[in-house]
Amino acid sequence: MDRRTTPLGIISATPGVVWPALPDAPGAALLAILFQLEQSQWWPAERLELAQRRQLSALLAHARDRVPFYRDRLPRGWPDSADAKAWEAAWRSLPVLRREEIQAADDSEAMLADALPPGHGEYREVFTSGSTGRPIRGVRSQLWELVWSAFTIRDHLWHRRDLTGTLAVIRESGAGKAAYPQGDMQRGWGFSSAGVFETGRLASLNVATPVEQQLEWLVRQDPDYVLSHPSILARLATASRDAGLRLPRLRQAMTIAETLRPDARQAIEAAWNVTVADVYSTREAGYLALQCPDHPHYHVQSEGLRVEVVGEDGQACVPGETGRVLVTPLHNLAMPLIRYDIGDAAEVGPPCPCGRGLPVLTRILGRRQNMLRLPGGERRWPLLSSGDLAGLMEAVPPMRQYRIAQKALDHLHVALAVARPPTAEEEAAVIAWARRKFGAGFRVTIEAMAELPRSAAGKFEDFVCEVPEGG
Ligand SMILES: [Zn+2]
Repeated sequence: MDRRTTPLGIISATPGVVWPALPDAPGAALLAILFQLEQSQWWPAERLELAQRRQLSALLAHARDRVPFYRDRLPRGWPDSADAKAWEAAWRSLPVLRREEIQAADDSEAMLADALPPGHGEYREVFTSGSTGRPIRGVRSQLWELVWSAFTIRDHLWHRRDLTGTLAVIRESGAGKAAYPQGDMQRGWGFSSAGVFETGRLASLNVATPVEQQLEWLVRQDPDYVLSHPSILARLATASRDAGLRLPRLRQAMTIAETLRPDARQAIEAAWNVTVADVYSTREAGYLALQCPDHPHYHVQSEGLRVEVVGEDGQACVPGETGRVLVTPLHNLAMPLIRYDIGDAAEVGPPCPCGRGLPVLTRILGRRQNMLRLPGGERRWPLLSSGDLAGLMEAVPPMRQYRIAQKALDHLHVALAVARPPTAEEEAAVIAWARRKFGAGFRVTIEAMAELPRSAAGKFEDFVCEVPEGG
């Protein structure tokens, strides 16, 4: 489809006016942000950075005046945002915010602003479950939710989606919600788009549904778009190819919530003959990066947040380097997070040939929790190549899924979803494989089951380190 003919209907809220549509005040504010995002994506990097510094200066002033946690943490005087060198030096001297600090401060509500400026609306509360540890509370303003909606729509615009189509979503993780065989059905794609844009049908299914039933449900929905975690879509794509089933209307697969590995992307694209568009977002911070419309890498959403990727020494990474992700949402004045270490790692890329000035991330490596810990204290990414996986597949009976957990510095536990229990020889082959891949010093235990469990949030990680910090 030609991008100029992509339908994007706007709903009029003004009696007597059908076209051009006049939305209500929140709808008009959403369109005002989107109008600017359409321009700013093409700005050169320097112009984006200057505009971002101006917004960050406003955020910092508010945080120091209104949020007890930041009263003594942020300096009083701050360089002019036009003086890039002085401003950035002051920024880099700000301490990194850690998850434990938020939890401690939140016990006394010290992270919350005592008041919001006019126009920011009310406080809204969310909890991030996370795969391990204690949940953290996030509080946002209604204005932040509006900005969040704008980036949701930007993702649709970038990928030229027809919003009047059917969107099938497998992400609901609440027990008993959106249960098979019916799932859940609603008109409109959700609150970010439904009020302003004409949208089609939204069909929803629980992530805990077994794959055969997911597939039967999906074929029945006959969707234009499907959205789920990469691990779920990869298994569905393989199952649908094996069963010779087709999704004739499907135009694109959208992935969220977990790291999209190249092998998962290939499996989905090959089985359904559609492209995959990935999103990098977190519940605490919103959209960090969206996949470029023309390339498989990601653009940082600089109009909504500042993303820093820093090495172990705290210095900014250059293209080709991987580091920790620090994030500062620009518009959440209810509970400002300034240089928050969200626990993920990412690889920085060079400027994108598409012409957008938004910074590039080549790979999202997910949680540091997914790094292998070595006895000396070092960490490394246990990246499993397709050759590694082929080795594992040879070692065991027909395997649907695997999950490796590091239980102690010298102990790896391999959980396998297999059709039948492995023999003693097969177990020995898995142990040998794990020692070749991760190190000869590891004790390896094996557990076989029919289906692997997911985290409370419905996520699936193929490698998780469960060794406590300092343990
Ligand atoms: Zn690009």
